[in-house]
Amino acid sequence: MRPTGRMHVGHLLGALNNFIALTDGNDCFYEIADLHALTTKFEQSREIAADVREMVTDWLAAGLDPEACTIYLQSHVPEISEMAVLLSMIVPVSWLERVPTYKDQINALGAEIATHGFLGYPVLQTVDIAIFKADGVPVGQDQLPHLEICREIVRRFNYLYGPVLIEPDAILSQTPLVPGTDGRKMSKSYGNTLMLADTDAATTARVKDMFTDPEKIRKNDPGHPEICPVFYLQRIVNGGNADSIAHRCRAGELGCVEDKADMARHLNAFLAPLRERRRALEARPEAVDEIIAQGTKKARAIARETLAEVKAAMGLR
Ligand code: SF4
Repeated sequence: MRPTGRMHVGHLLGALNNFIALTDGNDCFYEIADLHALTTKFEQSREIAADVREMVTDWLAAGLDPEACTIYLQSHVPEISEMAVLLSMIVPVSWLERVPTYKDQINALGAEIATHGFLGYPVLQTVDIAIFKADGVPVGQDQLPHLEICREIVRRFNYLYGPVLIEPDAILSQTPLVPGTDGRKMSKSYGNTLMLADTDAATTARVKDMFTDPEKIRKNDPGHPEICPVFYLQRIVNGGNADSIAHRCRAGELGCVEDKADMARHLNAFLAPLRERRRALEARPEAVDEIIAQGTKKARAIARETLAEVKAAMGLR
C-alpha cells in the first residue's frame, strides 16, 4: 500500500480487514510502498516519512498483528531497487505503455507525472512480489492487468535465465466500494472521507453533513435506503437494526436527521476499540518505528537471497 497518511473508513472496510483476514493461514508480507509514492509525490517527498508512520499506526490500530505477518518499508530493502534495475533491462517499453492505468493516470494527473519511474511502476511492482517468491497477491478486479504484466515479466525472466521466480496468482478479493459522505467512492482526493483517527465529535459532524436519498426531503417522504450512503454504513456498524431502519425509511417513519445521529453513534462505537489502540500507539511512536524496522529486517534477509539467485541465474558476479 502506498503511504498516504491517516486512513479512512473506506480503507478499513475495503483493504485493512482483508489484510488481517489473510494473515490467518498465510505467510503475508505487507509493503509500505514509499518508492511507489514517489511516482506521483516526488515534489512532496519530505512528507512521505510522516505518512508512513501514520499509515502503519492505523494498520496496527485496526488489528494487523505484526507477529502474524511481515510489515516492511520498501525503500529500506535496497535489494528491491537493485532487482528492479535488472528486470527493467528485459521489459519492452511497449508492455509498460499498454498498462491501462498508465494513460488514464496521465490524463487524470497531468503530463508531469509521466516520468521514467512512473512508466516503470509495473517493473518495481513485479519485484515487490517476485523478490519474496509470493505465490498469491490480493487484488481487486481492476488491478488484474497489473498482475498480468507481473506474470509476463516473471515468465520472460524465467525463459531467459532459468526458473528462479514464481508466477503469482491473483487472490481476488471482494473489495467493497465504500461510499464517502457525498455518495461517491470514499477517497481523500474527493474530500469525502470519515477518518479512522477522528474524534467522536468530528465524526458526528461529518455524518451530519452526509448526502442521503435526494428524494427524501421530509421525514414522511418514502426513502430509498439502497442508494443512501448513511444506510450503507448502518448495515456495517448497526447490522442488527438494518432491516428495521430500511423499513422505517421506506415507510416515511424515520427522518434523515435522526438516522444520521444514530449511525454516527454506532460508527463511533464501532471505531472505539481501534481509536483506543491508536491513542496508545501514538503515545509510543518509537514502538511503531521498531515494528517497521523488525519487519524490514526480516524482509531484507529474504530479498537478499532472491537477489543473489537472480544475479547467479543471469551470470552476474
Ligand atoms: S432515513 Fe436514513 S436510510 Fe433513509 S434516506 Fe435518510 S439517512 Fe438514508
